[in-house]
Amino acid sequence: YSQETEIKSYLDPNGTIHQYRQSTERALLAQRKIFLRKKLGEGSFSSVREGFDIFHQHKVAIKIVDTQRASKDFQEKFLPRELDIWPRVNHENIIKMYDHFIECGKIFMVLEFASQGDLLTYVQRVGAIPEQKRTVWSYQLCNAIKYLHGLELVHRDLKLENLLLDINDNMKLCDFGFSKDVLKCKEYLSKTYCGSRAYVSPEILLGLPYDAKKADIWAIGVILYIFVTGVMPFKEDKNNQLILKQHQKLQLHWSIENEREQSARNLILNIFTYDWQKRPNIQQVSSHPWFTISQTSKIVSVPIIRSN
Ligand code: ATP
Repeated sequence: YSQETEIKSYLDPNGTIHQYRQSTERALLAQRKIFLRKKLGEGSFSSVREGFDIFHQHKVAIKIVDTQRASKDFQEKFLPRELDIWPRVNHENIIKMYDHFIECGKIFMVLEFASQGDLLTYVQRVGAIPEQKRTVWSYQLCNAIKYLHGLELVHRDLKLENLLLDINDNMKLCDFGFSKDVLKCKEYLSKTYCGSRAYVSPEILLGLPYDAKKADIWAIGVILYIFVTGVMPFKEDKNNQLILKQHQKLQLHWSIENEREQSARNLILNIFTYDWQKRPNIQQVSSHPWFTISQTSKIVSVPIIRSN
């Protein structure tokens, strides 16, 4: 495998085509004793493949980012942050980055493998998540965020696609492409538009400087609502004003069947506080009584779609 190469070509300023040989992704990984297997998913500038690490004798996920395809902002700002933050993070509910290296204009991230895929696919298949699982996954999500916020790190792209399940059904957060170390920034408040439209908070949509921790909390509210109901709380729209109207009206659909449903509703409505200064922080969210009580409900309205 290590001899494997592919022929690439480039055009020089005089119009002459030059050809050269370049090692393939498979060969580059084989040199590190990692064998590449099937494709697991795709991102904007990356693909994620399953791999097998011969030295450690375990499966891994390999995220291969094609930096040439990526925007300038992504290359100069977001990618360096992801590579700075992710390897430093060590929590049982966050996918570990074991290693990363740069070769032939591509960045290879060797990640902990989550064999059961992402929660978007899961919710699209089953709808609302059964009570026992959703309680555990909500708790695990909050634990991961409590850990990150405690280190003054923010994720800024919380969504079902970025919540993975390992072989033991444990939820693990991935994708630090928009993450930020608040301590390394001159100003506490963020200004960059980050996140997926269906999950972003009102202050981000309004283009105001925002507290990224409170924006993470809003996205947690969206995720918890989907866990409980199986549908999105806010319909995605290209027009920010229309999403903001939904944020203000909060016409959410609930089937309150018991005290547990009441408790979930209370927590989620509390999270969807329009004014971020009054929105609860992660400690307040995690200590809500709903984490000890919850039950299923059946509601059908906005379909779940992959959001970018
Ligand atoms: P986007 O541009 O949409 O933010 P991305 O380039 O950051 O995406 P990821 O979100 O990290 O890519 O991964 C894309 C998909 O690949 C995930 O939704 C998931 O299905 C799969 N995937 C990512 N990491 C792993 C992993 N560690 N184990 C198993 N599958 C994974």
